[in-house]
Amino acid sequence: MGTLLGIVWALPLTIVGLLFALPVLAWRGHAQFIRGHTAALLVRGPFADAVLSRHPFGAMTAMALGHVIIAEQQGLSSRVLMHELAHVRQAERWGIAFPFAYLASSAWAGIRGRDAYWHNRFEIAARKAEKH
Ligand SMILES: [Zn+2]
Repeated sequence: MGTLLGIVWALPLTIVGLLFALPVLAWRGHAQFIRGHTAALLVRGPFADAVLSRHPFGAMTAMALGHVIIAEQQGLSSRVLMHELAHVRQAERWGIAFPFAYLASSAWAGIRGRDAYWHNRFEIAARKAEKH
């Protein structure tokens, strides 16, 4: 029940994720359903590789948009997956407010002269989740 509610609550973000997944899947990509503690759709392909390596915040291995995780074909370790699944759970908790809360946390870190990514509270929480 909690999961179903989380899926509905994060749906606006998941729709953005699915829109992004379309060109990935259209260009020799593939999707994989993850069913563990947290449900997610893992999407990989050459288009995702190209976009992730040119991301404006710096090259990254994966990113979560609602219940969709877009990842590189290479280098997706279980650690990275744990990290992204933590972001999926954050999206379940915060719903449509998540991107705003995330940006606010980055801004808050920046104002205090800290790194907007590294000291973002959602990234700190996701890094902790990697170790479990
Ligand atoms: Zn992260």
